[in-house]
Amino acid sequence: MTETKILPVSPEALDAEIITQAADVLRRGGLVAFPTETVYGLGADVLNLEAVKKVFDVKGRPPDNPLIVHVAGTKQLDDIVDEIPDKAKTLGEAFWPGPLTLVMKRTILVSDLVTAGLDTVAVRMPDHPVALALIRALGEGIVGPSANLSGKPSPTTAQHVYDDLRGQIEVILDSGQTTIGMESTVVDVTVDPPVILRLGGLTRERIEEVIGPVETDSTGDRSRRSPGTLHRHYAPKAQVLLVRHGDPAAFAALLQDQRQAGRKVGSIVHSALLAKLESGEFYRVLPSSIDIFARHLFRTLRELDAMRVEVIVVEGVEEDGLGATVMDRLRRASQG
Ligand code: AMP
Ligand code: MG
Repeated sequence: MTETKILPVSPEALDAEIITQAADVLRRGGLVAFPTETVYGLGADVLNLEAVKKVFDVKGRPPDNPLIVHVAGTKQLDDIVDEIPDKAKTLGEAFWPGPLTLVMKRTILVSDLVTAGLDTVAVRMPDHPVALALIRALGEGIVGPSANLSGKPSPTTAQHVYDDLRGQIEVILDSGQTTIGMESTVVDVTVDPPVILRLGGLTRERIEEVIGPVETDSTGDRSRRSPGTLHRHYAPKAQVLLVRHGDPAAFAALLQDQRQAGRKVGSIVHSALLAKLESGEFYRVLPSSIDIFARHLFRTLRELDAMRVEVIVVEGVEEDGLGATVMDRLRRASQG
């Protein structure tokens, strides 16, 4: 067991000493959870294979699920990316730092462990002063999968990281709740048109404004391109049941069914129609603004889990913009 320290660090007034301390932990092969604008990441030095291996171990992450390398500047790409296609440059200029991960051809310097044996590597520049400072202080890229146990909802606070990984990692840098609350959008730019492998914090619409049409991965070869996306994900312990948005009759019927079956039921709603429905103490109303709904969704799933509900009935959202990402996560959470 390792003692896990939670170190508060304000993004507005970075404490250089804490950043140095955390970078030293990484340099020695330790693990540091850090805030990004999307969710908390579990950081390890990309060049330290023992540390990278530990990331898979503590998360219980299947070894076929490759890691995203986080960089603080485009110069850091030279060592890890073999070829930067024009559309990748355009996307990077438009959206980095930000919730966009680009999959590109890798160099031989990147370990098979990081890429799960693929000939590509996923990279992203996070839009968070603490993450950027940590990467700069280390001077190397940092692998940073979400800092949760594999399969669970991603962590959007330091406490979530602590709940999942206490005793397994050295440091958690705590900058409060993350703003986006959903993971990055993963785009494969080794093909043209590029393919969105995972929906995320950057919407398809915004990507297409900049580089024209992209494909989403409906071709069925996702397992070859991005094996990790196939695993069950984002799921609380409770069973998740998804209902169409703004349909009080369907929602009430489902709640009643579940209660009659004797199950302890939680729910998450956002529309005005459903917010009026009286539904007991495990009923959570989130704002209908999709940005705010997304920010609080994983936290709310975890809160309901902590209350030991057996089922969570969730009101779906409209499937455009960030809503498409939210529905992707809810569908995966409700599988199995
Ligand atoms: P996470 O860091 O847990 O949010 O997950 C990283 C996501 O990026 C997973 O869906 C991976 O499958 C995907 N990914 C990482 N590296 C690659 C790669 N080289 N090719 C395709 N997908 C990747
Ligand atoms: Mg993850």
